[in-house]
Amino acid sequence: MPAKPMPWLWRLSMLKPGSTIGILGGGQLGAMLASAACEMGFKTHIYAPDNNSPAFQRTNLITVAPYEDLDALSRFAASVDVVSYEFENVPIAPLQHIQHTVPIRPGIKALETAQDRLVEKDFLKSCGARLASYAEVNSLEDLQVATQEIGYPCVLKTRRFGYDGKGQIVLREGDDLSQAWSGLKGAPCVLEAFVDFFAETSLIAARAVDGTIAAFEMALNTHKNHILHTTQLPCGLPEDVLSEADKISQEILTRLDYIGVMGIEFFVAKENDTHVLYVNEIAPRVHNSGHWTQDGCLVDQFEQHIRAIAGWPLGAPVRHSNIEMINLIGDDIDQVSGYLDDPRCKVHLYGKAEARLGRKMGHVNHLLA
Ligand code: AMP
Repeated sequence: MPAKPMPWLWRLSMLKPGSTIGILGGGQLGAMLASAACEMGFKTHIYAPDNNSPAFQRTNLITVAPYEDLDALSRFAASVDVVSYEFENVPIAPLQHIQHTVPIRPGIKALETAQDRLVEKDFLKSCGARLASYAEVNSLEDLQVATQEIGYPCVLKTRRFGYDGKGQIVLREGDDLSQAWSGLKGAPCVLEAFVDFFAETSLIAARAVDGTIAAFEMALNTHKNHILHTTQLPCGLPEDVLSEADKISQEILTRLDYIGVMGIEFFVAKENDTHVLYVNEIAPRVHNSGHWTQDGCLVDQFEQHIRAIAGWPLGAPVRHSNIEMINLIGDDIDQVSGYLDDPRCKVHLYGKAEARLGRKMGHVNHLLA
């Protein structure tokens, strides 16, 4: 861990209220980051290619332009005091163009790592994380060899642009490999062993400019149609699993010289009667499975991210209530009146006019007894 700077020096590096935070991406995560920034006295400037971006409802300044538009990006960079992002597929080359004008937090290294599953897995392995066995696959022949080595069942995933189960195929003994390979259109892939987990969990951790790390408690997640459905706290896992997750998260954030909030996803399996923790993937941003912090903690993941990227001290990641977060996806939004009438529920809506299949419309934080 790097040496801590003198407190007075460190204070000088804090962004002052009234400064402007730039956010690349205009979805609900950008919207909630903008709200948190506003509550802390900052202005925000959201940059997104889509005119109808939900985050535009909550920001002072907007730029509508493609991420590759270097002129627009340079003007954006000149108008803000720090740049952050709300999704991990921001193209890297344009960011390199502005990185000497304005701090980008979290940095480009975290983006490069998370954008490519193979780079990510190699990095996680170097941090000492346990991963499902994996192999690089660039051709049908590679896939044949890799399935022999890894065995069935296994999961073939594109290295880039996969999310919510898209860009991946589960392979079982006897499946037609050439069909699977062409199904992913010959994109560079990784093959990984199928983990027979009994729980999927995640941890939201933040690292400040001075290297301090604060992690929220590990959460238990359920999925519906490959999309996060619920997140529950406490997760009910034993202390040794929680402390292993904390330890590996600290290593990941420190090695990336990370500034901001990160979501780290895990599989928990039981092997020989012992809990075994696998890291699935990392998201270098605020994360859907961290929305529970809005109503389960005094300082939530959005404020924590703004604190970190502004050079402020981190808040205490302490949970004050047992809580369940329920995503409102597509038509789930029709159930909102029931939640509005429930005194133990807090409804968060993203302002999207049209409820499409699989579209995240909002979420509910339900306080449990
Ligand atoms: P991912 O996009 O890698 O997070 O995968 C989406 C979902 O697919 C995960 O949340 C798991 O439910 C499932 N999955 C992905 N990889 C594996 C694996 N190696 N073993 C078992 N299930 C997996």
